[in-house]
Amino acid sequence: MPGGVSSPVRAFQAVGGDPPVIERGEGAWLIDVDGNRYVDYVLSYGPLILGHAHPSVVGAVSAAARRGTSFGAPNPLEIELARVIRETMPHVEKLRFVNSGTEATMSVLRLARAFTGRPRFLKFQGNYHGHADHLLVQAGSGVATLGLPDSPGVPQQVTVNTMVAPYNDKAALHRIFGEFRGDIAAVIVEPVAGNMGLVEPAAGFLQELRSLCDKYKVLLVFDEVMTGFRVHPRGAVALYGVVPDLVALGKVIGGGLPVGAYGGRADIMSRVAPEGPVYQAGTLSGNPVAMAAGLATIFELQEAGVWEGLEARGEQLVRGLAEAARAAGVPLQVSRVGSMFGFFFSEQPVRDYRDAKASNVEQFRTFFHAMLNAGVYLAPSPFEAAFLSTAHGEEEIQLTLEAARRAFVEVAESDG
Ligand code: PMP
Repeated sequence: MPGGVSSPVRAFQAVGGDPPVIERGEGAWLIDVDGNRYVDYVLSYGPLILGHAHPSVVGAVSAAARRGTSFGAPNPLEIELARVIRETMPHVEKLRFVNSGTEATMSVLRLARAFTGRPRFLKFQGNYHGHADHLLVQAGSGVATLGLPDSPGVPQQVTVNTMVAPYNDKAALHRIFGEFRGDIAAVIVEPVAGNMGLVEPAAGFLQELRSLCDKYKVLLVFDEVMTGFRVHPRGAVALYGVVPDLVALGKVIGGGLPVGAYGGRADIMSRVAPEGPVYQAGTLSGNPVAMAAGLATIFELQEAGVWEGLEARGEQLVRGLAEAARAAGVPLQVSRVGSMFGFFFSEQPVRDYRDAKASNVEQFRTFFHAMLNAGVYLAPSPFEAAFLSTAHGEEEIQLTLEAARRAFVEVAESDG
């Protein structure tokens, strides 16, 4: 296995050292093969909003598996999950299940190009939309960590129609929309950016995108793979009041199993095969085991008080982190949107990829290892968001803040 891992960021290349090998997860905790226990803020990079091995998810998955894992035919659980998503996100009038976020974004852009008959699309620096060839341009996340501006093996012909703008930069949007009018099929955006660390949309940024898309008849695509059921029970659309034409979903809707989806306006989605000519397919798409995990997860989230609990714990945590950094004299930018949070070792607010890259990576490394040694597992890169689950309780938060107080002191001392 290249780097000993199945996905690059897991290899600790950005922070040094070797990753623990995880044997099992219990609620908010990871347990490695040597028996060490860590409070987990990675949560498989987002999906596990109920924590590890939640009884409802385990029960639903085992019950589904006993009845057969995949049929290559319609099944009631996919119909039920589609219905629940549509009820929760009314702009998703029609949807198609796939097996990953990468498949969802790749397919949704194929559809947008087919629907508009236009070749180009716009993405933002530091937004990651999976690893399809034409999307691997200034892509943040693992790519940012490895310092690859792009990837070898992606021919230039494939990315000539990919345009890139700085996140949160309205002036750049106006220039690009004006210059390439008539050529742009879609804009794809992380409505809350979570792949360059956590970067919130500036006030009015998403609204401006919507109105430019309307003006130039460009489709607006929200990549809610990370933010869907994460930043708000109904996703970023409900939080910011901006409605896209199409969305990509993943992570939480699969409850820890491989699931993605894309959907949106029915007139556009009707162009997907077999209703329309835009081809897209998948052997295991919509399989009942994965659908059962997603359904169980969303049902638990919709229980009374669950979301409020997540918000309250999240607030307690980020406040505590900010206080601990201040007490140690370490400049830190902390932010949170729903159950996603992030921090940068930086004196300045972080609004885009350039700001994120200018943050102090050395301090992050020191902090990361101090936290890991104290039993707190953060993503091993300054360019990943952190996640909270409903399984994180008072004990876990207190342990985390205690560890952070010592870790920030270590950061301050290592600097001096
Ligand atoms: N879009 C976003 C916003 C993501 O965060 C990710 C994964 N981190 C993807 C797409 C790709 O999803 P996957 O890894 O499931 O292919």
